[in-house]
Amino acid sequence: MEHQMVKIYAKKILLLFQTEVDQSNYYICSKKSGSVNAKVYMVERNEHGKTFDRHQLLTYYVGNDFIFCSCRTFDFEGYPCRHMVSYFKKIQVLLLPEKYILRRWTKNAKVGVCGDTSTGIFDGGSSSTSLMSWHGMLAHKSSLLVDDVALTDACTTFLIGEFESLHV
Ligand SMILES: [Zn+2]
Repeated sequence: MEHQMVKIYAKKILLLFQTEVDQSNYYICSKKSGSVNAKVYMVERNEHGKTFDRHQLLTYYVGNDFIFCSCRTFDFEGYPCRHMVSYFKKIQVLLLPEKYILRRWTKNAKVGVCGDTSTGIFDGGSSSTSLMSWHGMLAHKSSLLVDDVALTDACTTFLIGEFESLHV
């Protein structure tokens, strides 16, 4: 996976991801509970046979075929955390699935023309700074929206439909 991402990730994000891959060696992923729609795993640090109290919960949503980690590194930073890598190792996924590779972190990423920089909200800085600002703001707003929407099935279904119509 690390070897794969050397060719894909831009240098800055590659270094962060490599740290997560290295750290994942100290983590154990074990299945905790599960239902038809979601399987929950506990990922905890284990050094010399000693586990630590703090752990993360990783949920695999069967319908969406997507995993969510409670540390939320992927949500906010856009690269898989050590817990996700630990999970991939457990299920013997050797290459990082494409859906977890965000285009903005790849070597080919460019800031597109989609967006209005004339508003002055995202002033100054390099292209990558603007990109980070945009991403941070969008992630924050999306997170607030998702927190509310996820409370009901109907709203969740509606929002999934909206996302799909927006993201072709
Ligand atoms: Zn995590």
